[in-house]
Amino acid sequence: MEFFSRRARTIAPYTAGEQPKSGIFVKLNTNENPYPPSPRVAEAVAAFPCERLRLYPNPDGDSLRDAVAAFEGVERENVYLSNGSDEALALAFAAFFDDVRAACFADVTYSFYEVFAAMFGVTTRIVPLKEDFTLDIAGMRAADCAGYFIANPNAPTGIATAAEEMEKWIASMPERLFVIDEAYADFSGETCVPLTEKYGNLLVVKTFSKSHSLAGIRCGYAVGAPALIGGLMRMKNSFNSYPVDALCMAVCAASLSDRAYHEETVKRVAEERERLKKGLCGLGLTVLPSRSNFLFAGRGKVPAGEIYARLKAEGVLVRHWNKPRIADFCRITVGTPEQDDILLEKLKIILS
Ligand SMILES: *Cc1c(COP(=O)(O)O)cnc(C)c1O
Repeated sequence: MEFFSRRARTIAPYTAGEQPKSGIFVKLNTNENPYPPSPRVAEAVAAFPCERLRLYPNPDGDSLRDAVAAFEGVERENVYLSNGSDEALALAFAAFFDDVRAACFADVTYSFYEVFAAMFGVTTRIVPLKEDFTLDIAGMRAADCAGYFIANPNAPTGIATAAEEMEKWIASMPERLFVIDEAYADFSGETCVPLTEKYGNLLVVKTFSKSHSLAGIRCGYAVGAPALIGGLMRMKNSFNSYPVDALCMAVCAASLSDRAYHEETVKRVAEERERLKKGLCGLGLTVLPSRSNFLFAGRGKVPAGEIYARLKAEGVLVRHWNKPRIADFCRITVGTPEQDDILLEKLKIILS
């Protein structure tokens, strides 16, 4: 500690979900996709010319920016690439917020936001979700802030705010910046990306980690007006000017090229989500209406913390937070039907 900066001494880092070393767990705790990436990814890796690794990649990742732009229906200048979408979110805090320009977000949302704010000395305004865990938009409108971080669908609740409702809000507050974290939006069937053409105060952040089954490659992107992308570029070029490597670019472009596979995988997960939800409700659990690839379930006969521990002892990992408002819920990633059946079987015993 004696060598630590004040920031390093005082910051409370983000705690990621457990990544067990053994493969014996049914792993439903970090919202990874249960299905493999597109076969085109394996082909791209096999065909990758390793000789190219001798050279630095294009600093802005232009080849992948073009692939993302084509996939999202925007232009290259509207796309910023990052090493995981977490990095784009972090740099958005640094680029657009500070001690005077406060960032507003919900009390129950992606817990990395408060860590990034602390990291970059950003003032925060925390507005609690409503009783039913939906966004308190009126409260957030009234907050004294320069803009918002909104996970949509939200984590860990899975609840989505309709794009139409987001648009009304974005249109009515052009002086505030909206950073919408769409890590799970592919599973909801709704996105605010098309709104970025119309609104210069909107940045949408997406990731390859969830719907593309590429959490291991560490790539994400932001879509927005060129001025906003320029702000992120300024921060990148002051921090790590080559955040996306050459192999990553080839892998992610291959995944984007296989739209049919992506749509099919997303559909399978979304359908299984509804089946798993029925199963959980049938066991007497309250399950929030999720539009993501996970379910937030609890308020059953057995406290959620105990459910988490007993599932873990039985080889099934889910996520639990000992935090106000959400301590009686577990977040359960939608797995394959086989994985989910194991979970339901174990839960049935625990809850009986
Ligand atoms: C998983 C997740 C991310 C994405 O993380 P990556 O760094 O892209 O793997 C971003 N936001 C939320 C809310 C998430 O759950």
